[in-house]
Amino acid sequence: MAVRKTAAKKAAKTADKKTTKLNLKKYTDFIVDKTVELLNIDSPTGYTEEAAAWVKKEFEALGFKARITNKGGVVVDLTGKDKKNGLLLEAHTDTLGGMVATIKGNGRLQLTNLGGMNANNAETENVRVVTKFDGIYEGTFQLNNASLHVNGDYNDTKRSWDTCEVVLDEDVKSEEDTKKLGISVGDIVCFEPNVRVTKNGYIKSRFLDDKLSVGILLGFAKYIKDNKIVPKRALYAHITVFEEVGHGGCGSVPEGCTEAISVDMGCVGEGLTCTEKQVSICAKDSGGPYSYPVVQGLVAAAKKTGADYAIDIYPHYGSDVEATLEAGNDLRHGLIGAGVYASHGYERSHRDGAENTLKVIIGYAL
Ligand SMILES: [Zn+2]
Repeated sequence: MAVRKTAAKKAAKTADKKTTKLNLKKYTDFIVDKTVELLNIDSPTGYTEEAAAWVKKEFEALGFKARITNKGGVVVDLTGKDKKNGLLLEAHTDTLGGMVATIKGNGRLQLTNLGGMNANNAETENVRVVTKFDGIYEGTFQLNNASLHVNGDYNDTKRSWDTCEVVLDEDVKSEEDTKKLGISVGDIVCFEPNVRVTKNGYIKSRFLDDKLSVGILLGFAKYIKDNKIVPKRALYAHITVFEEVGHGGCGSVPEGCTEAISVDMGCVGEGLTCTEKQVSICAKDSGGPYSYPVVQGLVAAAKKTGADYAIDIYPHYGSDVEATLEAGNDLRHGLIGAGVYASHGYERSHRDGAENTLKVIIGYAL
């Protein structure tokens, strides 16, 4: 109780201080550009090498040391003085996707999901099948027997991984034909990200979760670099892989970290208050409440930097930082992110949401 009282007093004091005016347009432009670049690199969970190499290169281009972990994630040293009170920022670059489960008798592919990908909202999406040794083949994820003029059950069929298939854009009619191309069970299937940025700042893609946050952390790194900031506390970023299957943030916590914050998509939907233009501060999700002083500090940071924010509870959500705790790390934890609508579907956010998230990170970390 005593700790909470002290933290509350401190937070209130900080919040009372004048709002810091931040002009972040340049960084928001940068975030959107980098997010679009990363979105266009296929990286379903389990196939993230190229995306991780890109992330490493981008942080290095900003002058920071980055390394690829054994698991395939990227840990970045954003430097800072107090190495005993480090803050770790986590975002993930793996996305949803598919994997070849069966090569059917007609040469088409039955898939299994990677992460929480849903067959019903992936129907009619273009895909790339990545073979182990024989290159990449294109196709479309369709309902079995997808011609509406032929299939009398078209409207009544429940879309699932069993009732949908990949129709390859190749001349294949049998299992043998498809195997001859070099396609086999276990091959990765990447769904088209369908990236679109509208004139008024909406960002749409299948996989904003969580590449938008990777873009935001790059924007944060650029902000530190451009303004020659030496952070008081040690700062690190871990761009994880395997988040979509639950163990992204389990390892690679740099020594001396006392706090970890997941920067991941903020939920938008009925019963919640956040919009795509805001930063969402999560108070509780399926893993329980977030660390009280961290949530309080994030709200204080939003107030201080004038960030448009919402505090919400996510009913069906687990975060990377919870994986970090479950792995046995002794840390205070938090979760923020730009509001994302239609999560794990065709996702939408807005550049203002990214900017507001950046504001909170700056206000909290620096
Ligand atoms: Zn995510």
